Amino acid sequence: MIKLTNTLTSKKESFEPINGKKVNMFVCGPTVYDYIHIGNARTFVFFDVVAKYLRHRGYDVNYIQNITDIDNKIIDRAQKEGVDPLEYAKKYSDIFKEDMKTLGVTSPEYKNATDHIPEVIKQVQTLLDKNNAYIIEGDGIYFDLSTFPDYGKLSGRTAGMADDAVSRIDDSDKKRNRGDFAIWKFSQEGDPSWNFETGKYLGINNSRPAFAKATAGRPGWHIEDTAITEKYFGPQYDLHGGGQDLIFPHHEAEIAQQESASGLAPFVKYWLHVAFLINKDEKMSKSKGNFKTVHELLEKYPKEVLRFYLLSGHYRSPLEFSDKTLRQSEAGVSRIYEFVQKLNLTGENGADNAEKQIEKGRQTFLEAMDDNFNFPKALAAIFDLIRDTNNALVNNSLNKTSIEKMRDFLKETDSVLGIIPTKKEKIPDEILELVEKRENYRKSQKWEEADKIRAQIEEMGYKVEDTIYGPLMERT
Ligand SMILES: [Zn+2]
Repeated sequence: MIKLTNTLTSKKESFEPINGKKVNMFVCGPTVYDYIHIGNARTFVFFDVVAKYLRHRGYDVNYIQNITDIDNKIIDRAQKEGVDPLEYAKKYSDIFKEDMKTLGVTSPEYKNATDHIPEVIKQVQTLLDKNNAYIIEGDGIYFDLSTFPDYGKLSGRTAGMADDAVSRIDDSDKKRNRGDFAIWKFSQEGDPSWNFETGKYLGINNSRPAFAKATAGRPGWHIEDTAITEKYFGPQYDLHGGGQDLIFPHHEAEIAQQESASGLAPFVKYWLHVAFLINKDEKMSKSKGNFKTVHELLEKYPKEVLRFYLLSGHYRSPLEFSDKTLRQSEAGVSRIYEFVQKLNLTGENGADNAEKQIEKGRQTFLEAMDDNFNFPKALAAIFDLIRDTNNALVNNSLNKTSIEKMRDFLKETDSVLGIIPTKKEKIPDEILELVEKRENYRKSQKWEEADKIRAQIEEMGYKVEDTIYGPLMERT
């Protein structure tokens, strides 16, 4: 039984989807106005693994991620560059998808906000009809928070505390409540705009008569998600995820919109939120200038190393981003890779039977994943098994069935995690043997002998670095 920590209840709960084995799952995607940073990638890699793991466990997962391709930031940037905002968004949307593919994030189906304008309008109209929303002339259509007493049930915050969360698009002194947010913004000059009656795209507002219609405009940020999920999943579904910074006000707003529109609660049964990456104790952010984009990191590191790194901490805890943690991940990936190489090369049929050990490792891995996606524990299960069977493998004493079972186990874990490279720069056998020898000396605390071997390795043009996942070898 899979258990997960539900933000809605703050409790670890058994995962029981609404419809048996069918899982409808939605994760907030990026606003495509720039390259995404590695902190966002943590969320996307995490949920990629969640979807793959649920499928591995026999669930039929329909995983949708939205792409916010209409937003203030997009319009501002595009205007500065003198290009069409929708074309500008398309450019970064394509880059995002390409980066995700390179990173091995293959499970979500992407849905653009601008492809769902009729659905947005339908929901806005429902909220107007039910008096959950009101119109401010010349400004937009706003959700009235006083009509939704449950506001704050996800974050434990209240509508009155929404002050700091009011963004420019939601700013108006004519609002009924301070925390009210725009669900439809009337067209200003320069805005890409849609006809509110027909959903038809009108182009950029250049003050032609078509735009004189007071209701022409564009969707607010929160409404696109619920419009998309209502279309594909209906008014209630199983799992909603995102970065923890989205809990308030974004996810509260989604709950208010969908539960008001349908009258059904809860809108989402399980909410999962992923913690930040931190850089020397502070959150990584563009404004602090301490973040790196996925695009630039993918030029330097193979996808397996980045995935390993992003999965190396518990998703609910902040994860340190540094050269050191990336080097450790490189070592972890190399260690598994070298082990797989040895498995593939061995043709021997020894006498040692490790089947029980392998089955135990497999169970530990599944238990760790079932227990709220505990990646550090799941990775430890793999490393323990490697450590316990490595000597037998090197000595060619493992029997054939054990070797096959081991291969199957690693293939199984990798189909979910995606951390084993298919090829890597080859470290020569004589270096690998020396590293092995040095490891054995270190284990028996023969430091002098170990240092001599290190010197020997260095003379041969390689260096070895000790990390928590074992030795990392590199050409000097
Ligand atoms: Zn969202």
